[in-house]
Amino acid sequence: MNNANQKKELAILGSTGSIGVNCLDVVHHHSDRFAIRALSTHSRVDEMIVQARQTRPEWVAVTGVQPSQTQMCQLEELNCQVFSGADALQTLVEQADYDMLVNAVVGAAGFLPTCRAIERNKDIALANKETLVMGGSIVMNLVAKHHVNLIPIDSEHSAIFQCLMGETPLSIETILLTASGGPFRTWNKTDIWRAKSRDALKHPNWDMGNKITIDSATMMNKGLEVIEACWLFDLAAARVKVVIHPHSIIHSMVQFIDGSIKAQLGVPDMRIPIQLAISYPNRLASNCERYDLIGGPDLTFEEPDLHRFPCLKLAFQAIESGGTAPAVMNAANEIAVQAFLQDRIGFYDISDTIDQCLQSHDLDHDPDEQSLVHADEWARQIADSLIQKQIG
Ligand code: NAD
Ligand code: MG
Repeated sequence: MNNANQKKELAILGSTGSIGVNCLDVVHHHSDRFAIRALSTHSRVDEMIVQARQTRPEWVAVTGVQPSQTQMCQLEELNCQVFSGADALQTLVEQADYDMLVNAVVGAAGFLPTCRAIERNKDIALANKETLVMGGSIVMNLVAKHHVNLIPIDSEHSAIFQCLMGETPLSIETILLTASGGPFRTWNKTDIWRAKSRDALKHPNWDMGNKITIDSATMMNKGLEVIEACWLFDLAAARVKVVIHPHSIIHSMVQFIDGSIKAQLGVPDMRIPIQLAISYPNRLASNCERYDLIGGPDLTFEEPDLHRFPCLKLAFQAIESGGTAPAVMNAANEIAVQAFLQDRIGFYDISDTIDQCLQSHDLDHDPDEQSLVHADEWARQIADSLIQKQIG
């Protein structure tokens, strides 16, 4: 913490998204503890300007569009230094002053900025699971080398992180990763096959960005989270078990070698794990709704169905293959989800595209940062051309 009144200074990447907005809400409620030093958006520049007016950051980044002259003038009036273009996030994390990076961007775009921030010994609050899916080995090595804290925001990983407080790695038997099952949990395969993006965007419990909402419908989100958990908690995929828990009250569990199970519960509200990540090792008060044990929904569990949700199986295969395979899977998924969101391809074309990319990929077992970036770019091109062929 740099300034006189000891506020923790945050740089929020992806501040205009669902996690970013929730993070700013937490900061607003604890404005005596946190200050905003940097914000970023991909294309919602006007929204970011409104945020900047309220939080007065010194640095902002715009990655997906060129800000208009009017927008530049408004940012100058707010005394913001503006970075734009493809490398803007890396430049921002390298040049801004902050204590903790909150990575709330969506997709593989979060990977390199995370690496650059850790190299500057910055703590990370990580929502962007794609960072660890793409380059978990590199990121976790950097975390160890630079002795930084990398605290998960993803609700399941926050739950596991909390269950492991006071425990040693050797006492873990299995991680029980809960999944809502998404909007198609009770649908048959024929109906899922016909589903459109508007059906997939109706998540039963969580209000999130479009990409993660489609990932939840395909269950690729749970696949990405299995990989995220393997890296965060240094476990083989065989020790991570996915359990469907439709009401999203238990956010995940850890089973220990003595048969004991610890779980973390609460209403589905991302402000709770976001707040813990930015305030760790402290717990702060929150006015979020409380789970009502008597009147709330029953806690029920089901086995995931890999036949209806093949993306989950692909994720287990990719982490088993290791090397560049998860990066390829992730990139192909991003392209296919984008095409599905535009209703250019069908639901099961998402898993087919990923499967074909993984099968035609020449695996690099021990990739460095550059090879991961190349694997990501390669998979995007192949996925694009497969989709072009499918739609003729
Ligand atoms: P979102 O789509 O609502 O917001 C994404 C943010 O990233 C926006 O600010 C957008 O401007 C920015 N962005 C988009 N594309 C970008 C690019 N190519 N380069 C740089 N910035 C870009 O997404 P979200 O739901 O807030 O999710 C963000 C991340 O958090 C994802 O990795 C998601 O899996 C993870 N996550 C989200 C939730 C949730 O409840 N929303 C829960 C757990 C984990
Ligand atoms: Mg999650």
